[in-house]
Amino acid sequence: MKVLDRRYEMMPRDELEQLQLERLQALLARLKRNVRRYRELLGDTRIESLADIARLPCTTPENLAEAFPYGMFALPLREVVRLHPALGFRGTPLVTGYTRTDLAQWGRLVARQLVASGVTANDVVQVCLGSGVYRGASGYVMGAETVEASVIAEEPFHIDSQLAMLQSYRPTMLVTTPDNARELMKTLQHRRIDPPSLHLRTVLLSRPVSRETRQALEAGLLVAVRCNCGVDEILDSGFCVECDAGHFHVNEDQFLVEVQDGELGVTTLLREAVPLLRYRTRIAATLRREKCPCGRTGAILEPGPRLDGRLRVRESPLYECQIAEVLAQTRAAGHRFHVEVAERHVIIAIEMSSALFSDVMWMLTDLQNEIQNEFKTRLGLDTDIRLITPRDAG
Ligand SMILES: [Zn+2]
Repeated sequence: MKVLDRRYEMMPRDELEQLQLERLQALLARLKRNVRRYRELLGDTRIESLADIARLPCTTPENLAEAFPYGMFALPLREVVRLHPALGFRGTPLVTGYTRTDLAQWGRLVARQLVASGVTANDVVQVCLGSGVYRGASGYVMGAETVEASVIAEEPFHIDSQLAMLQSYRPTMLVTTPDNARELMKTLQHRRIDPPSLHLRTVLLSRPVSRETRQALEAGLLVAVRCNCGVDEILDSGFCVECDAGHFHVNEDQFLVEVQDGELGVTTLLREAVPLLRYRTRIAATLRREKCPCGRTGAILEPGPRLDGRLRVRESPLYECQIAEVLAQTRAAGHRFHVEVAERHVIIAIEMSSALFSDVMWMLTDLQNEIQNEFKTRLGLDTDIRLITPRDAG
């Protein structure tokens, strides 16, 4: 059962593809009318079948950065009811806008995930994602309201207040980040709190995790773990529905997805304020269109690594090129480095030249401090700087 929009989520493929074609044609007309960039690129291009999409121009993260703030908007600001600032390509600012219809659709798409995870009007859903850095939070609030569950959107400041909320409000679902879920699990273990004394049944994580992490959280919190899988610049929640079989089904009635050279491309079919054509997500992915025991027909997405060196530090994006730019301001400029993201900071191992290594030890400490300060000042980033001897090539 557990399917909210049976008509769309389980639509036979031929009907779904016909719907996508009609929505794509309508989208092209809107883009030509309202967005100068697309008007110039599209000219009088028409499409007769979905395969014709290969003839349409792509949109890149660089295009979004160039068009900042409102160059990609298809509607005047008076029709836009919400703006979500975010960090885009290389940490440049990015903004997405939503009309009232966009917001309603977003809520509906997230509600599909909540229903697939077993949420009903009888549930209490707590959304705890660290708003500010993660704009998916409002999607979950709207989604829970769509399902008519009771939603708590208060962000506790500290694990103690989080625990107090779980104990007094008794949410049955917690929507949170993998880091927060891990911290909660460790706290319960450390304080010997029995997980069933909370009333949680499901934890919905803001992004996919490894099978091991999922199993550890399920065993440690005694809950079912579900994952969200989104594309930050387009829709960080509500892009896919994870079903009982653990497959991410793309909501293909609203997003046309393709894989070009191993990279996920997305066209937003219904988005009004900022529709995007063939957006190159810089995410490696494979798509499978096959029967799933859950009955959903949307393509199954298997997300792979980022292709643009983008890392995630405490839920905020960080690009390797940003690290190189900061290092360029220090005496370690031009040296090779290796990055590892820890829970609350970033470990940067810099391969030192023999010239720099010949300095006495206090000089090296001095250099580490200089680099650490540079990262704190420029990116607000806590780093652990390690100076290492050059690794063998490869
Ligand atoms: Zn499925």
